[in-house]
This record gives sequence, C-alpha cells and structure tokens, in this order.
Amino acid sequence: MKYIKKSFYEMSITELASDFAKEEINPKAASLLYRHFYKEKSTEACAHHNLSKKAKAYLSDHYSFDLPIINNVHISEDLTVKFLIEFNDGEKVESVLIPFQNKYTLCLSTQVGCAMKCSFCFTGTQGLKRQLSTSEIIGQFILAWNWLKINRPMESKTQQLKNIVFMGQGEPLHNFDAVKKACEILLDQHGASLGCQKITISTAGYLPGLKRWNEEMPGVNLALSLHSVVEEKRNELIPINKRFPLNEIMDYIRTIPLARKQYIIFEYLLIKDFNDSIEDAIACGEYLKDVQAIINLIPFNPFPGSLYQKPDAKTVLAFQQKITEYNIPALLRTTKGDDILAACGQLNTKINSLTSLNSSPAKRL
Ligand code: SAH
Repeated sequence: MKYIKKSFYEMSITELASDFAKEEINPKAASLLYRHFYKEKSTEACAHHNLSKKAKAYLSDHYSFDLPIINNVHISEDLTVKFLIEFNDGEKVESVLIPFQNKYTLCLSTQVGCAMKCSFCFTGTQGLKRQLSTSEIIGQFILAWNWLKINRPMESKTQQLKNIVFMGQGEPLHNFDAVKKACEILLDQHGASLGCQKITISTAGYLPGLKRWNEEMPGVNLALSLHSVVEEKRNELIPINKRFPLNEIMDYIRTIPLARKQYIIFEYLLIKDFNDSIEDAIACGEYLKDVQAIINLIPFNPFPGSLYQKPDAKTVLAFQQKITEYNIPALLRTTKGDDILAACGQLNTKINSLTSLNSSPAKRL
C-alpha cells in the first residue's frame, strides 16, 4: 500500500516520537534520527541505523528524506558562498554562507519573494510568491552544511556553522509557524543543538508576528529593520510602516522585559543623501537612548535598477560616531559577497545571471 509521505525535515522530535509510539515503535528512535540527520548531518537514509526492522519499514513507507537541490553556487572573493536552492515545484530562493572570524553564519530565506515591498530591497521587487515550509527552511541548512563538509572539509570538522540569521529572502515573521518550527528543530539538543542566542530573526516591523515572537520564542534574537526614525522616510522605505508605525512597534517592544544582556538589534540601512545625515543620527540616538539596543549600520548595497546609492565612507563613520555618543553600540556591517550579489537586499532569484553592477542606478524621484 502507498502512503502519502511526510517530510522528515518537517517533524519536531516530539511529533516523531508520538508517531512512533502510536505504531508501538520505541520513541527513542526519534532521538537517534535527530542525531543522525541533524548532529552528524548525514544525508544518507537511515539504513545503517541502530533501528528496529519495524522502525525502518515504517520510516520508508511514511517519511520522505528528500531535500531541495542546489541549482547554482557562487563563491565570492571574500569566500562568501551564495546558493541558489530549488524546491520540487521549481521555485527558487537563495541562502548565503558568510565566513566571519573562523565561523560561518548562514543567512536563510523564509519566503519565495516578499510581500513587504521595501523600496531599497531587491527581493521586494518580486512580490510574494509563496511561503516556505519548515522542511524547505531546514533543507537550506542541511544543504549548506553538506556543501561545507565536501568543499571545505577542515572547517566543517570543527563544527563552525553555528549562527543562523533569518535575513534572506522574505519576511520571517510573516511566515511565523514555519519559522518557529524550524527554530525548534535547530535548537533541539538531540540534533543541531544551536543556542537560542545564535539565531536571529530580522523583521521589517510586522507587528502581529513580532507579538508572537515575544510570546512564543522570546529567547531567539530579534533584529528590527529601522532605517529611519522619521515617519515620512520610514514610510517611503518600508511601506508596512503605514500599517504598523514605528511608534506602535516601539511601544510594544518597550513592554518586553528583556533578560539582562539581551539586546534588540536595530538594523540601519545608510542611503546616500536620504537618511545618512548627522541630524538623522541624532534623531536615531535620541529615539533609542533608553532602549537596550545595538545598531548594525549597513551601507546600502546597490543592485541593478536600484533607486538609491551607497554613502561614502566618511559619512558612514560620522554617523557611527554620533550614535556612539548616545552610548549605543553601533557596529558597521562590512559588506560581504557584494561581488556576487549576495549582500543584504541583493537577493533576487529572478536575476540569477549576475547582471552587471556597473549599470548606473536609476535616479531617485
Ligand atoms: N524582511 C526582513 C528580513 C530580510 S532583509 C527584514 O526586513 O528585516 C534583511 C536585512 O537586509 C534587512 O535589515 C534589510 O533592511 C536589509 N537590506 C535589504 N535590502 C538591502 C540593500 N539593498 N542594501 C543593504 N541592506 C539591505
């Protein structure tokens, strides 16, 4: 008899154990499988496992272990790796492996396209095509890990892929259930066992999702894409600000009792002659001075046809200096992988042919 198979990568350890218990299979098989697929990161089926015959037969009848495929890989001069991942319906997203001080951060996508339509973001130009499932999110992690294992074996041995950022294509809080479950799988101590503080969810400010983050997974770091504290400017950059204004978001964030040493990360995209002035820095510093904040400054990364430009280094440093005067740590995020369009906001699976960046960006209206 043929069954409709569930993806293994969709299952929490508790769900697996309860499926097994119903079949009178020792639920411990769930932790063995988690160890095999998530700790040892094996992609081989479970034939070699210490599992009973009954468990193996049940698994092969009821579960699929299929992964998405890596359709394309681009390696940047700074060793950043951009993967084009293809799912079984042909849709594609990108994931980016970013090396930093002997460790890797993996930037995962959560949607095909994005509904937020931020004016500075390449992904936003695609609109939302569909949500990713948990197994499609986890699949990106397994594929990146295995790529490292094969292509950079020395580095993968020391288990260096420990940081996950949900900063790829899509708005993670707009696909909350799938992202939450993916985090649960990655955090599980029988498997990949990542630390809560090693996962960061970045949001454009989708308030319903933000509330759920606070209630359901507050241990995982939150990054808010701020980009301006001036209402008209934020409205232009992040249209969802008209529906969920920054003040409402901050009123909510201020009610959250943050554990000691837990900070909210604010991402601030610096755009030439738009939000990069000293007045902008002062407004931002004043706005955040009583919040446990870290600011990540990201100079705008251009893409083909983008409306904005990157500020010069002097302006960036002056902005950083002004923020620091408010005792807010302001880190300058160095651009990684921009030669392969893998930097923040440059991900767009439609344009995969690495269109030349030399084409002059359109003027802002
Ligand atoms: N939707 C989420 C996560 C995806 S974007 C969010 O908005 O936070 C991840 C980060 O990249 C965000 O801070 C976003 O503002 C930034 N980003 C988007 N486009 C960019 C660009 N062209 N240059 C630099 N950063 C960009």
